[in-house]
Amino acid sequence: MSLFKPLDTNTETKNVTLQGASEHVKCLIIGSGPAGYTAAIYAARANLKPLLFKGLQPGGQLTTTTEVENYPGYPDGITGPKMMEDLEKQAARFGTDIRWGIVTEVDFSKRPYKVVVDEKQAIEADTVIIATGATAKYLGLASEETYKGSGVSACATCDGFFYRGKDVAVVGGGDTACEEALYLAGMCKKVYLIVRKNFLRASKIMQERVLSAPNIEVLFEHNTREIRGNQVVEEAVLIKHMGKPDESEVLIKIDGFFLAIGHTPNSEIFNPYLETDETGYIITEAGTPRTNVPGVFACGDVQDRVYRQAVTAAGSGCQAAIEAERYLGHL
Ligand code: NDP
Repeated sequence: MSLFKPLDTNTETKNVTLQGASEHVKCLIIGSGPAGYTAAIYAARANLKPLLFKGLQPGGQLTTTTEVENYPGYPDGITGPKMMEDLEKQAARFGTDIRWGIVTEVDFSKRPYKVVVDEKQAIEADTVIIATGATAKYLGLASEETYKGSGVSACATCDGFFYRGKDVAVVGGGDTACEEALYLAGMCKKVYLIVRKNFLRASKIMQERVLSAPNIEVLFEHNTREIRGNQVVEEAVLIKHMGKPDESEVLIKIDGFFLAIGHTPNSEIFNPYLETDETGYIITEAGTPRTNVPGVFACGDVQDRVYRQAVTAAGSGCQAAIEAERYLGHL
């Protein structure tokens, strides 16, 4: 699922929505993860009176995570949702105008830039900070679609509660998959971790935790062929050693099937104006949040395919706000 709707290619519709902006702001921020809120804190303190739209997943990806143990300043860790609540309060404290709304269209062809919210309200902005993050990937199986919301989920923190005392599976071998598996292991009877390679890509500490959890069974070199069930998920058909001479089918009985196989950057609506790489990450000038459009900056996961951490997202949000302030100073 994309966070933002693709640009409407119908010129008539486009012109209608992009005409007659009802507001003009110095700095408009799109997205409410660590990058967006940090940009808002800095922009507000620089008196840019930023307007921030929260998007489809207010608080961003951290609202779907459990404990954050690696953000500096929290020696005992903090939950993702609590951290985002605090960041929002901090951004609001310095005067950020924080609103619910999804950006559905943009026009970066000339200044002031135009942004349409919820397909109806057009706003003009001298600078735009894009902090739209990334969205969870799915395997692309037809059966995955069938059971979305009936046992298939890409967010253990959101939906794990429904599977207390039950058996579930998590797909993926990265830090997210390990984190989700450990979270679910705390409430479920059994957790299968389905890993397509013969090793985990996750950090050493997460690997150790997963491998020592008594109710997590790691199924290395397994791929998912199909999810089955009567109305709700009841089992998954896996392929062990796919493509090898000893390939075999494995059936696991589960009630929940969780995806944790990475993310896609939410950059679709900006594509007509901004340069992106082959997977959609917005290309920024090395070491800066500057995009190919002057005055439009990108920060956080939408432009970071390498680090993708809350703290690096926050750092790039700070850079984006400082750049916006300097850009406005030069105008
Ligand atoms: P990653 O890209 O690191 O891992 C994705 C995993 O999913 C890999 O094991 C990959 O397998 C697997 N995968 C991808 N596509 C498929 C598929 N079609 N079928 C089966 N398996 C598939 O993503 P993460 O979301 O785990 O992590 C992203 C970044 O965020 C990383 O840098 C990570 O370190 C960081 N992170 C940090 C956390 C923390 O520090 N608390 C928590 C969560 C994430 P393969 O290895 O074979 O490619």
